[in-house]
Amino acid sequence: MDLLEYQGKQLFARHGLEVSAGEAVTTVEDAVAAADKVGYPVVVKAQVLIGGRGKAGGVKLAANEAEAREHATNILGLDIKGHIVRTLWIEHASDIAAEYYASVLLDRSAKQPMVMFSVEGGVEIEQVAEQSPEKLVRHHVDALQGLSREEAIEIAREGGADEDVVEGVADALVALYEVWLQEDATLAEINPLIVTPASPGDGTTPGGDGQGGSGRRVKALDAKVSLDGNALYRHPENQGLSDSENEDPIERKAKEQGVQYVALDGDIGILGNGAGLVMSTLDVVAQAGGAPANFLDAGGGSDAAKVKQAVELILANDKVKAVLFNIFGGITRCDEVAKGLITAFGDIEPSVPFVVRLDGTNDVQGRELLQEAALPGVYAARTMNEAAEKVVELAA
Ligand code: GDP
Ligand code: MN
Repeated sequence: MDLLEYQGKQLFARHGLEVSAGEAVTTVEDAVAAADKVGYPVVVKAQVLIGGRGKAGGVKLAANEAEAREHATNILGLDIKGHIVRTLWIEHASDIAAEYYASVLLDRSAKQPMVMFSVEGGVEIEQVAEQSPEKLVRHHVDALQGLSREEAIEIAREGGADEDVVEGVADALVALYEVWLQEDATLAEINPLIVTPASPGDGTTPGGDGQGGSGRRVKALDAKVSLDGNALYRHPENQGLSDSENEDPIERKAKEQGVQYVALDGDIGILGNGAGLVMSTLDVVAQAGGAPANFLDAGGGSDAAKVKQAVELILANDKVKAVLFNIFGGITRCDEVAKGLITAFGDIEPSVPFVVRLDGTNDVQGRELLQEAALPGVYAARTMNEAAEKVVELAA
Protein backbone atom coordinates (compact mmCIF):
# COMPACT_ATOMS: atom_id res chain seq x y z
CA MET A 1 0.00 0.00 0.00
CA ASP A 2 1.70 3.15 -1.23
CA LEU A 3 1.22 6.38 0.70
CA LEU A 4 1.04 9.88 -0.65
CA GLU A 5 3.93 12.16 0.32
CA TYR A 6 2.00 14.00 3.02
CA GLN A 7 0.77 10.76 4.59
CA GLY A 8 4.33 9.47 4.68
CA LYS A 9 5.41 12.71 6.33
CA GLN A 10 2.74 12.26 8.99
CA LEU A 11 4.31 8.90 9.86
CA PHE A 12 7.77 10.51 9.83
CA ALA A 13 6.64 13.20 12.26
CA ARG A 14 5.21 10.54 14.57
CA HIS A 15 8.68 9.01 14.84
CA GLY A 16 10.53 12.26 15.40
CA LEU A 17 11.77 13.03 11.90
CA GLU A 18 11.70 16.73 11.13
CA VAL A 19 9.22 17.73 8.40
CA SER A 20 7.60 21.04 7.46
CA ALA A 21 4.15 21.86 8.72
CA GLY A 22 1.52 21.92 6.01
CA GLU A 23 -1.98 21.09 4.89
CA ALA A 24 -3.55 18.73 2.34
CA VAL A 25 -6.23 20.39 0.21
CA THR A 26 -8.31 19.60 -2.86
CA THR A 27 -9.39 23.05 -4.11
CA VAL A 28 -7.62 26.23 -5.17
CA GLU A 29 -9.41 28.27 -2.48
CA ASP A 30 -8.34 25.85 0.26
CA ALA A 31 -4.81 25.86 -1.16
CA VAL A 32 -4.62 29.64 -0.86
CA ALA A 33 -6.08 29.57 2.65
CA ALA A 34 -3.55 26.90 3.66
CA ALA A 35 -0.69 28.93 2.16
CA ASP A 36 -1.78 32.00 4.13
CA LYS A 37 -1.84 29.87 7.25
CA VAL A 38 1.57 28.16 6.91
CA GLY A 39 3.20 31.41 5.83
CA TYR A 40 5.00 32.44 2.60
CA PRO A 41 7.05 31.32 0.84
CA VAL A 42 5.22 28.03 0.43
CA VAL A 43 5.69 25.03 -1.80
CA VAL A 44 2.67 23.68 -3.66
CA LYS A 45 3.03 19.94 -4.22
CA ALA A 46 1.00 17.49 -6.30
CA GLN A 47 0.03 14.42 -4.28
CA VAL A 48 0.23 11.49 -6.65
CA LEU A 49 1.79 8.06 -6.32
CA ILE A 50 4.57 8.64 -8.80
CA GLY A 51 8.04 10.12 -8.55
CA GLY A 52 9.51 12.93 -10.58
CA ARG A 53 6.72 15.35 -9.75
CA GLY A 54 9.14 18.25 -9.64
CA LYS A 55 10.30 17.71 -13.23
CA ALA A 56 6.69 17.30 -14.38
CA GLY A 57 5.71 20.70 -12.98
CA GLY A 58 3.97 19.26 -9.91
CA VAL A 59 6.16 21.02 -7.31
CA LYS A 60 6.23 24.84 -7.31
CA LEU A 61 7.40 27.53 -4.94
CA ALA A 62 5.05 30.45 -4.28
CA ALA A 63 6.21 33.70 -2.72
CA ASN A 64 2.76 35.21 -2.29
CA GLU A 65 -0.95 34.62 -2.56
CA ALA A 66 -1.13 35.32 -6.32
CA GLU A 67 1.56 32.75 -7.02
CA ALA A 68 0.00 30.21 -4.69
CA ARG A 69 -3.30 30.62 -6.53
CA GLU A 70 -1.63 30.33 -9.92
CA HIS A 71 0.31 27.17 -9.03
CA ALA A 72 -2.64 25.51 -7.30
CA THR A 73 -4.78 26.20 -10.37
CA ASN A 74 -2.18 24.74 -12.71
CA ILE A 75 -1.29 21.69 -10.65
CA LEU A 76 -4.81 20.56 -9.70
CA GLY A 77 -6.00 18.32 -12.54
CA LEU A 78 -2.48 18.01 -13.96
CA ASP A 79 -1.70 14.64 -15.52
CA ILE A 80 1.63 13.37 -14.20
CA LYS A 81 2.53 10.20 -16.09
CA GLY A 82 -1.08 9.09 -16.07
CA HIS A 83 -1.81 10.17 -12.50
CA ILE A 84 -4.33 12.98 -12.27
CA VAL A 85 -3.65 15.38 -9.39
CA ARG A 86 -6.64 15.66 -7.05
CA THR A 87 -4.86 16.60 -3.83
CA LEU A 88 -2.24 19.25 -3.11
CA TRP A 89 0.08 19.47 -0.15
CA ILE A 90 0.94 23.01 0.87
CA GLU A 91 3.89 23.42 3.18
CA HIS A 92 6.12 26.25 4.30
CA ALA A 93 9.08 26.32 1.93
CA SER A 94 12.49 25.31 3.23
CA ASP A 95 15.86 26.80 2.39
CA ILE A 96 18.17 24.14 1.06
CA ALA A 97 21.95 23.93 1.51
CA ALA A 98 22.29 20.30 0.44
CA GLU A 99 20.09 17.46 -0.77
CA TYR A 100 20.86 13.97 0.57
CA TYR A 101 19.13 10.65 0.12
CA ALA A 102 18.06 8.05 2.70
CA SER A 103 15.99 4.89 2.60
CA VAL A 104 15.25 1.68 4.46
CA LEU A 105 13.98 -1.46 2.82
CA LEU A 106 14.26 -5.21 3.01
CA ASP A 107 17.09 -6.65 0.96
CA ARG A 108 15.48 -9.95 0.04
CA SER A 109 18.61 -11.56 -1.35
CA ALA A 110 20.54 -10.82 1.84
CA LYS A 111 17.46 -11.51 4.00
CA GLN A 112 18.27 -8.40 6.01
CA PRO A 113 16.99 -4.86 6.36
CA MET A 114 19.11 -2.40 4.41
CA VAL A 115 19.75 1.29 5.01
CA MET A 116 20.84 3.32 2.03
CA PHE A 117 22.37 6.76 2.24
CA SER A 118 23.90 9.18 -0.24
CA VAL A 119 24.85 12.83 -0.33
CA GLU A 120 23.74 12.82 -3.97
CA GLY A 121 20.05 13.32 -3.25
CA GLY A 122 17.33 15.16 -5.08
CA VAL A 123 17.95 13.14 -8.24
CA GLU A 124 16.77 9.67 -9.22
CA ILE A 125 18.66 7.34 -6.92
CA GLU A 126 18.83 4.68 -9.65
CA GLN A 127 20.94 7.15 -11.58
CA VAL A 128 23.37 7.55 -8.67
CA ALA A 129 23.51 3.76 -8.23
CA GLU A 130 24.37 3.36 -11.89
CA GLN A 131 26.72 6.27 -12.52
CA SER A 132 28.52 6.62 -9.20
CA PRO A 133 27.74 3.56 -7.07
CA GLU A 134 30.55 4.50 -4.66
CA LYS A 135 28.41 7.45 -3.59
CA LEU A 136 25.57 5.22 -2.40
CA VAL A 137 26.17 3.54 0.95
CA ARG A 138 24.33 0.24 1.40
CA HIS A 139 24.37 -0.93 4.96
CA HIS A 140 22.78 -4.17 6.19
CA VAL A 141 21.21 -4.10 9.62
CA ASP A 142 21.01 -6.96 12.08
CA ALA A 143 17.24 -7.36 12.31
CA LEU A 144 17.38 -8.43 15.97
CA GLN A 145 19.73 -5.65 17.08
CA GLY A 146 18.14 -2.88 15.06
CA LEU A 147 20.02 0.18 13.85
CA SER A 148 22.14 1.75 16.58
CA ARG A 149 23.02 5.41 16.66
CA GLU A 150 26.73 4.52 16.42
CA GLU A 151 26.07 2.49 13.30
CA ALA A 152 24.02 5.34 11.83
CA ILE A 153 26.85 7.80 12.50
CA GLU A 154 29.21 5.47 10.62
CA ILE A 155 26.82 5.35 7.68
CA ALA A 156 26.56 9.14 7.59
CA ARG A 157 30.37 9.52 7.68
CA GLU A 158 30.94 6.80 5.10
CA GLY A 159 28.46 8.50 2.78
CA GLY A 160 30.30 11.78 3.15
CA ALA A 161 27.76 13.85 5.07
CA ASP A 162 29.12 17.24 6.11
CA GLU A 163 30.71 16.82 9.52
CA ASP A 164 28.44 19.34 11.23
CA VAL A 165 25.32 17.35 10.27
CA VAL A 166 26.61 13.81 10.79
CA GLU A 167 24.65 13.50 14.01
CA GLY A 168 21.55 15.02 12.48
CA VAL A 169 21.74 12.55 9.59
CA ALA A 170 22.29 9.68 12.02
CA ASP A 171 19.22 10.67 14.03
CA ALA A 172 17.21 10.83 10.81
CA LEU A 173 18.41 7.36 9.78
CA VAL A 174 17.53 5.88 13.16
CA ALA A 175 14.08 7.49 13.01
CA LEU A 176 13.57 6.28 9.44
CA TYR A 177 14.52 2.76 10.47
CA GLU A 178 11.99 3.02 13.29
CA VAL A 179 9.29 4.11 10.81
CA TRP A 180 10.11 1.17 8.57
CA LEU A 181 10.10 -1.35 11.42
CA GLN A 182 7.30 -0.15 13.65
CA GLU A 183 4.86 0.82 10.93
CA ASP A 184 5.43 -2.45 9.01
CA ALA A 185 6.61 -0.55 5.96
CA THR A 186 8.14 -2.31 2.97
CA LEU A 187 9.87 0.90 1.93
CA ALA A 188 10.63 4.17 3.70
CA GLU A 189 12.49 6.66 1.54
CA ILE A 190 13.44 10.33 1.82
CA ASN A 191 14.62 12.08 -1.32
CA PRO A 192 15.72 14.74 -0.69
CA LEU A 193 16.75 14.62 2.93
CA ILE A 194 17.85 18.22 3.13
CA VAL A 195 20.39 20.14 5.11
CA THR A 196 19.14 23.65 5.84
CA PRO A 197 21.55 26.59 5.68
CA ALA A 198 22.88 27.99 8.93
CA SER A 199 20.24 30.41 10.15
CA PRO A 200 21.19 34.06 9.72
CA GLY A 201 23.27 35.35 12.55
CA ASP A 202 24.49 32.05 13.90
CA GLY A 203 26.78 31.60 10.89
CA THR A 204 29.79 29.77 12.21
CA THR A 205 28.98 30.09 15.88
CA PRO A 206 28.54 26.69 17.48
CA GLY A 207 24.90 26.55 18.48
CA GLY A 208 22.92 24.48 20.90
CA ASP A 209 20.05 23.21 18.81
CA GLY A 210 20.97 19.57 19.32
CA GLN A 211 21.57 18.97 15.61
CA GLY A 212 25.20 20.04 15.44
CA GLY A 213 27.29 23.08 15.95
CA SER A 214 26.44 25.20 12.92
CA GLY A 215 22.72 25.39 13.44
CA ARG A 216 22.17 23.51 10.20
CA ARG A 217 19.31 21.08 10.43
CA VAL A 218 18.42 17.83 8.69
CA LYS A 219 14.90 17.50 7.43
CA ALA A 220 12.69 15.29 5.23
CA LEU A 221 11.48 17.27 2.23
CA ASP A 222 9.83 14.35 0.49
CA ALA A 223 8.46 10.98 1.63
CA LYS A 224 7.92 7.72 -0.18
CA VAL A 225 6.44 5.10 2.10
CA SER A 226 4.86 1.77 1.25
CA LEU A 227 3.10 -0.13 4.00
CA ASP A 228 2.57 -3.87 4.08
CA GLY A 229 -1.17 -4.18 3.50
CA ASN A 230 -1.21 -7.59 5.19
CA ALA A 231 0.08 -6.04 8.42
CA LEU A 232 -2.51 -3.27 8.47
CA TYR A 233 -4.58 -5.03 11.10
CA ARG A 234 -1.77 -4.24 13.54
CA HIS A 235 -2.09 -0.51 12.74
CA PRO A 236 -5.71 0.59 13.01
CA GLU A 237 -4.49 4.21 12.94
CA ASN A 238 -3.05 3.63 9.44
CA GLN A 239 -6.13 2.02 7.97
CA GLY A 240 -7.54 5.35 6.80
CA LEU A 241 -4.39 5.97 4.76
CA SER A 242 -5.35 3.55 2.03
CA ASP A 243 -5.13 5.52 -1.12
CA SER A 244 -8.29 6.57 -2.83
CA GLU A 245 -6.37 8.08 -5.75
CA ASN A 246 -5.73 4.86 -7.58
CA GLU A 247 -7.72 2.27 -5.73
CA ASP A 248 -9.82 0.34 -8.17
CA PRO A 249 -13.51 0.77 -7.20
CA ILE A 250 -14.20 -2.91 -7.86
CA GLU A 251 -11.24 -3.94 -5.71
CA ARG A 252 -12.58 -1.76 -2.94
CA LYS A 253 -16.03 -3.33 -3.19
CA ALA A 254 -14.51 -6.83 -3.24
CA LYS A 255 -12.50 -6.01 -0.13
CA GLU A 256 -15.65 -4.91 1.66
CA GLN A 257 -17.30 -8.19 0.67
CA GLY A 258 -14.27 -10.23 1.72
CA VAL A 259 -13.65 -11.50 -1.82
CA GLN A 260 -10.10 -11.94 -3.14
CA TYR A 261 -10.20 -9.81 -6.28
CA VAL A 262 -7.35 -8.09 -8.10
CA ALA A 263 -8.00 -5.89 -11.12
CA LEU A 264 -5.87 -6.58 -14.21
CA ASP A 265 -5.63 -4.90 -17.61
CA GLY A 266 -7.27 -7.35 -19.99
CA ASP A 267 -10.79 -8.18 -21.11
CA ILE A 268 -11.36 -11.76 -19.96
CA GLY A 269 -13.05 -12.11 -16.58
CA ILE A 270 -11.65 -14.94 -14.46
CA LEU A 271 -13.12 -16.86 -11.57
CA GLY A 272 -11.69 -19.94 -9.95
CA ASN A 273 -11.67 -21.63 -6.58
CA GLY A 274 -8.32 -21.55 -4.84
CA ALA A 275 -5.61 -18.95 -5.40
CA GLY A 276 -3.26 -21.44 -7.09
CA LEU A 277 -5.90 -22.55 -9.57
CA VAL A 278 -6.82 -18.95 -10.37
CA MET A 279 -3.18 -18.03 -10.97
CA SER A 280 -2.65 -20.96 -13.30
CA THR A 281 -5.89 -20.00 -15.06
CA LEU A 282 -4.40 -16.55 -15.70
CA ASP A 283 -1.33 -18.22 -17.20
CA VAL A 284 -3.30 -20.59 -19.41
CA VAL A 285 -5.49 -17.76 -20.71
CA ALA A 286 -2.39 -15.70 -21.46
CA GLN A 287 -0.83 -18.68 -23.21
CA ALA A 288 -3.94 -19.01 -25.36
CA GLY A 289 -3.39 -15.40 -26.42
CA GLY A 290 -5.92 -13.75 -24.09
CA ALA A 291 -5.58 -11.02 -21.49
CA PRO A 292 -7.21 -11.60 -18.08
CA ALA A 293 -9.27 -8.73 -16.67
CA ASN A 294 -8.99 -9.82 -13.07
CA PHE A 295 -7.98 -12.38 -10.49
CA LEU A 296 -10.90 -13.66 -8.45
CA ASP A 297 -10.66 -16.48 -5.97
CA ALA A 298 -14.11 -17.69 -4.99
CA GLY A 299 -12.50 -19.84 -2.30
CA GLY A 300 -14.59 -22.65 -0.94
CA GLY A 301 -17.88 -20.88 -1.48
CA SER A 302 -20.26 -22.34 -3.97
CA ASP A 303 -23.70 -21.22 -2.90
CA ALA A 304 -25.78 -19.12 -5.25
CA ALA A 305 -25.32 -15.91 -3.27
CA LYS A 306 -21.53 -16.20 -3.43
CA VAL A 307 -21.45 -17.08 -7.11
CA LYS A 308 -23.79 -14.20 -7.85
CA GLN A 309 -21.62 -11.79 -5.88
CA ALA A 310 -18.55 -12.94 -7.81
CA VAL A 311 -20.27 -12.66 -11.18
CA GLU A 312 -21.44 -9.15 -10.30
CA LEU A 313 -17.91 -8.10 -9.35
CA ILE A 314 -16.46 -9.47 -12.59
CA LEU A 315 -19.12 -7.82 -14.75
CA ALA A 316 -18.82 -4.49 -12.93
CA ASN A 317 -15.71 -4.07 -15.10
CA ASP A 318 -17.15 -2.99 -18.43
CA LYS A 319 -13.97 -4.00 -20.28
CA VAL A 320 -14.91 -7.66 -19.76
CA LYS A 321 -15.93 -9.32 -23.02
CA ALA A 322 -16.08 -12.95 -21.88
CA VAL A 323 -15.73 -14.82 -18.60
CA LEU A 324 -13.98 -18.04 -17.66
CA PHE A 325 -15.22 -20.01 -14.67
CA ASN A 326 -12.61 -22.55 -13.69
CA ILE A 327 -13.77 -24.80 -10.89
CA PHE A 328 -11.96 -27.78 -9.55
CA GLY A 329 -14.42 -29.61 -7.31
CA GLY A 330 -13.04 -30.88 -4.04
CA ILE A 331 -14.98 -30.11 -0.90
CA THR A 332 -16.80 -27.63 -3.11
CA ARG A 333 -18.82 -29.93 -5.36
CA CYS A 334 -19.26 -29.11 -9.03
CA ASP A 335 -23.03 -29.70 -8.92
CA GLU A 336 -23.31 -27.11 -6.14
CA VAL A 337 -21.35 -24.61 -8.20
CA ALA A 338 -23.51 -25.33 -11.24
CA LYS A 339 -26.65 -24.70 -9.17
CA GLY A 340 -25.16 -21.47 -7.88
CA LEU A 341 -24.38 -20.37 -11.39
CA ILE A 342 -27.88 -21.21 -12.65
CA THR A 343 -29.47 -19.22 -9.82
CA ALA A 344 -27.07 -16.32 -10.39
CA PHE A 345 -27.89 -16.26 -14.10
CA GLY A 346 -31.59 -16.19 -13.28
CA ASP A 347 -31.00 -13.00 -11.31
CA ILE A 348 -28.38 -11.18 -13.36
CA GLU A 349 -28.78 -12.07 -17.05
CA PRO A 350 -25.15 -11.45 -18.02
CA SER A 351 -24.50 -9.71 -21.29
CA VAL A 352 -21.24 -11.52 -22.12
CA PRO A 353 -20.54 -15.20 -22.83
CA PHE A 354 -19.32 -17.54 -20.08
CA VAL A 355 -17.11 -20.58 -20.44
CA VAL A 356 -17.44 -22.96 -17.52
CA ARG A 357 -14.94 -25.66 -16.84
CA LEU A 358 -16.00 -28.08 -14.14
CA ASP A 359 -13.69 -30.84 -13.03
CA GLY A 360 -13.41 -32.94 -9.89
CA THR A 361 -16.11 -33.95 -7.42
CA ASN A 362 -19.48 -34.41 -9.17
CA ASP A 363 -18.27 -32.76 -12.38
CA VAL A 364 -20.50 -34.95 -14.54
CA GLN A 365 -23.61 -33.96 -12.57
CA GLY A 366 -22.52 -30.34 -12.70
CA ARG A 367 -22.18 -30.33 -16.46
CA GLU A 368 -25.53 -32.13 -16.80
CA LEU A 369 -27.23 -29.48 -14.70
CA LEU A 370 -25.75 -26.74 -16.87
CA GLN A 371 -26.80 -28.53 -20.03
CA GLU A 372 -30.37 -28.98 -18.78
CA ALA A 373 -30.58 -25.34 -17.76
CA ALA A 374 -29.46 -24.36 -21.27
CA LEU A 375 -28.31 -20.95 -20.09
CA PRO A 376 -27.88 -18.62 -23.06
CA GLY A 377 -24.24 -17.77 -23.73
CA VAL A 378 -22.83 -20.42 -21.40
CA TYR A 379 -20.37 -22.95 -22.80
CA ALA A 380 -19.18 -25.98 -20.87
CA ALA A 381 -15.57 -27.11 -21.21
CA ARG A 382 -13.83 -30.18 -19.88
CA THR A 383 -10.21 -29.13 -19.68
CA MET A 384 -8.48 -25.95 -18.73
CA ASN A 385 -6.82 -25.57 -22.15
CA GLU A 386 -10.07 -26.13 -23.98
CA ALA A 387 -11.77 -23.56 -21.72
CA ALA A 388 -9.01 -21.02 -22.22
CA GLU A 389 -9.05 -21.36 -25.99
CA LYS A 390 -12.83 -21.04 -26.09
CA VAL A 391 -12.94 -17.95 -23.90
CA VAL A 392 -10.19 -16.24 -25.92
CA GLU A 393 -12.14 -16.98 -29.09
CA LEU A 394 -15.34 -15.55 -27.57
CA ALA A 395 -13.60 -12.39 -26.38
CA ALA A 396 -12.01 -11.69 -29.77
P1 GDP B 1 9.63 14.66 -6.58
O1 GDP B 1 10.11 15.43 -7.77
O2 GDP B 1 8.35 13.94 -6.87
O3 GDP B 1 10.65 13.75 -6.01
O4 GDP B 1 9.24 15.75 -5.46
P2 GDP B 1 10.11 16.37 -4.27
O5 GDP B 1 9.24 16.54 -3.10
O6 GDP B 1 11.36 15.59 -4.04
O7 GDP B 1 10.49 17.82 -4.82
C1 GDP B 1 11.29 17.97 -5.97
C2 GDP B 1 12.32 19.05 -5.75
O8 GDP B 1 11.67 20.28 -5.50
C3 GDP B 1 13.22 18.83 -4.57
O9 GDP B 1 14.31 17.99 -4.87
C4 GDP B 1 13.65 20.24 -4.25
O10 GDP B 1 14.76 20.58 -5.03
C5 GDP B 1 12.46 21.08 -4.67
N1 GDP B 1 11.72 21.47 -3.46
C6 GDP B 1 10.72 20.79 -2.83
N2 GDP B 1 10.35 21.42 -1.72
C7 GDP B 1 11.10 22.54 -1.61
C8 GDP B 1 11.21 23.60 -0.64
O11 GDP B 1 10.51 23.65 0.37
N3 GDP B 1 12.11 24.58 -0.91
C9 GDP B 1 12.91 24.56 -2.02
N4 GDP B 1 13.80 25.53 -2.17
N5 GDP B 1 12.85 23.57 -2.93
C10 GDP B 1 11.97 22.58 -2.73
MN1 MN C 1 11.60 13.47 -4.24
